[in-house]
Amino acid sequence: MMRAKKSLGQNFLIDKKIITKIVSILELENKNILEIGPGTGNLTEGILSRNPEKVLVIEKDDNLALLLKKKFRDKIEVINKDILKINENLLSDKTLTVFGNLPYNISTEILCKWILNLKEKIWFDSLILMFQKEVADRIISSFNTKNYGRLTILANWRLDIKKICDISPLSFQPQPKIESSVLFFKPKKNFFSLKNSKNLEKITRIFFMHRRKMIKKPYFQLFNENISIASKIGIDLNSRPQNLDFETYFELTKEYENLRS
Ligand code: SAH
Repeated sequence: MMRAKKSLGQNFLIDKKIITKIVSILELENKNILEIGPGTGNLTEGILSRNPEKVLVIEKDDNLALLLKKKFRDKIEVINKDILKINENLLSDKTLTVFGNLPYNISTEILCKWILNLKEKIWFDSLILMFQKEVADRIISSFNTKNYGRLTILANWRLDIKKICDISPLSFQPQPKIESSVLFFKPKKNFFSLKNSKNLEKITRIFFMHRRKMIKKPYFQLFNENISIASKIGIDLNSRPQNLDFETYFELTKEYENLRS
């Protein structure tokens, strides 16, 4: 048994029932799969059992990458790299179905990076990703709740999101301290069109800087004394950031873009 590296967030999934559940979310036959952070290959085995056309895995740990090459030979293609340094748009000509049980700090970073960098042609058809439960709850929350925030808005801008299940620490080796959740994402067919995703990132960052305070201050910071936009979109400047729904943040971003063009 390989010793787990804490620095790389190595908590290997050992629960066969959960693995089966994750790889059965959708049909994998004839699909091209990308798995990130395959570790010792437990989930990889589950994926292979569903007869995909091709499996590409990205594993940062050199020893694990070697182990995977030995274990799976030509059944998978191993890329021994850091997922954060990879241009996902160049990975494959074919659309990918993505699985990932990554360290929790990276899964959020990766999800945001992927959303912000989406091109005309979207490189994946589905994402099946594991998060710490608390983060998953933020991603799937709705406005007027305490979990609602930037991550919710960014994710829901481009993706349809469904929770598959929660996973107990007992399903991992070594056991993490917290509960996890698996989320299933698909690109939205129709999404609110913006000039630059960075603007949505900026607007939500400034609005959610002080989540308990009224949105007057961030609003004036972005739109100066211009009240007409607020009344056009129908927002009350005495609300708190979590009181505005997704659509309102998209509209605000569009107005912000119009002012600057
Ligand atoms: N999916 C496996 C392992 C999960 S542990 C399982 O369920 O059993 C997380 C894995 O991600 C580890 O194998 C770790 O080495 C790998 N990893 C951590 N950071 C990474 C990065 N930046 N890029 C690619 N892989 C990474």
